[in-house]
Amino acid sequence: MLTNDQIKKANQHYVLQPWSKQAKRNPKIITDSEGIYFWDENNKKFYDMNAQLVYANLGHKHPKIIEAFNQFKELEISAPGFASESKAKLAQKIVDLAPNNMAKVYFTTAGAEANEQALKMAKAITGGYKIFSRYRSYHGSTLGAGNLTGESRRLGSEPSPPGFVKFDMPYLYREYQNFEDEKALSAQYLTRLERQITSEGPDTIAALVIETIPGSNGVLLPPDGYIKGIEKLCRRYNIMMICDEVMSGFGRSGEWFACDHYDVQPDMITFAKGVTGGYLPLGGVILSKELSTYYDDNVFLSGATYSGHTLVCEIGNVAIESYEDMDLIKHVKQMEIVMNERLEKLRVYKYVGDVRNKGLFGAVELVKNKQTKEPLIEYGTAQGNDKQGYMRAFSQLLLDEGFYTFAHESHVLVTPPLTITAVEINAAMDLFENALVRFEEQFPK
Ligand code: PLP
Repeated sequence: MLTNDQIKKANQHYVLQPWSKQAKRNPKIITDSEGIYFWDENNKKFYDMNAQLVYANLGHKHPKIIEAFNQFKELEISAPGFASESKAKLAQKIVDLAPNNMAKVYFTTAGAEANEQALKMAKAITGGYKIFSRYRSYHGSTLGAGNLTGESRRLGSEPSPPGFVKFDMPYLYREYQNFEDEKALSAQYLTRLERQITSEGPDTIAALVIETIPGSNGVLLPPDGYIKGIEKLCRRYNIMMICDEVMSGFGRSGEWFACDHYDVQPDMITFAKGVTGGYLPLGGVILSKELSTYYDDNVFLSGATYSGHTLVCEIGNVAIESYEDMDLIKHVKQMEIVMNERLEKLRVYKYVGDVRNKGLFGAVELVKNKQTKEPLIEYGTAQGNDKQGYMRAFSQLLLDEGFYTFAHESHVLVTPPLTITAVEINAAMDLFENALVRFEEQFPK
């Protein structure tokens, strides 16, 4: 067995770490974990308030999953061309949980790959080649998903292949135009989007892709009527509506899928992360009845070695059973209130511009100035223009307190395992407040 020191050295030497300059990395090692907690190599305890990367929805070391792993003594492996019980059962279960119009699942190994496949299907079925997606969205880092992405993390995938078109989304807190109410704001944006669709030529457009609730760009809750309006435009112009629920799916927002909140029936839903509680890599595309029927007589021109891998699907089934055993959707709805109360209390702090949550999908937006809403870090620049080191400092203060999470530009996510209790939310948010107090001392106004 390697010592912690040896692990760190080998990691630094041989592993290419994502999204970073390699020389500056010094990642922690998780040496133990349980429920919503993990411990690092110095035996420091952390509240996992990002559920790792918003996937450990069932918490760490979930007993039912660990037990399932221990039972795999006679596991059959079978290539995607074979039928298997675990794959068939999981696909049926996911279709049952998804909106009523859904009928089939294509399994992938990750969220980005799910989005890639959804794009291919939309292009094949409609004959269009343009893909609309939004600024302030993240859809993955492969070439297609990277170009769907509408923020700084797309830069590594540029220049984009032809046909990727971006549109703007309403941003309730940071809206620069006046609006009477949420519906009026939605109407403004939908009118502009319709103009963009007609200008681009509806026949050339295969799909419109949205994160139903954009996650890593700060849980940007859609205003009233907006998602329904998107669906109407897609129907009016025969464009596929694809909801990327890689982060928002599987209970995160207090429903199985975030689109359940908005009374819509997308043509495709992409998912990953929470489907296995993060215990094994699995993603996929859920297709509507109409699309599934299309493939009855048309060849589906895609495939991948590990699509529907037996072991991975088995763990997917156990994970969903665990969600149901614990009645997690109901639990998330109850915890939404507790988290909301604690987030709202943060508004008294000088650097807190906005707080938002739906279910246990929460974020805090930090600003330099509460009147002008000037963000701590200018949009689109990642941490690039954080000359004063605001976000680096705040992230470090959170870690010092034992609050582990993800920060992007001026947003900090509050996205714990869905199993978190009210007591644990309160204890974790005390740590967040401690970090804010120390931040105000470090950067006095
Ligand atoms: N889509 C959304 C909304 C995501 O949040 C992510 C990852 O965070 C992805 C797609 C990409 O998923 P993966 O990292 O599994 O490729």
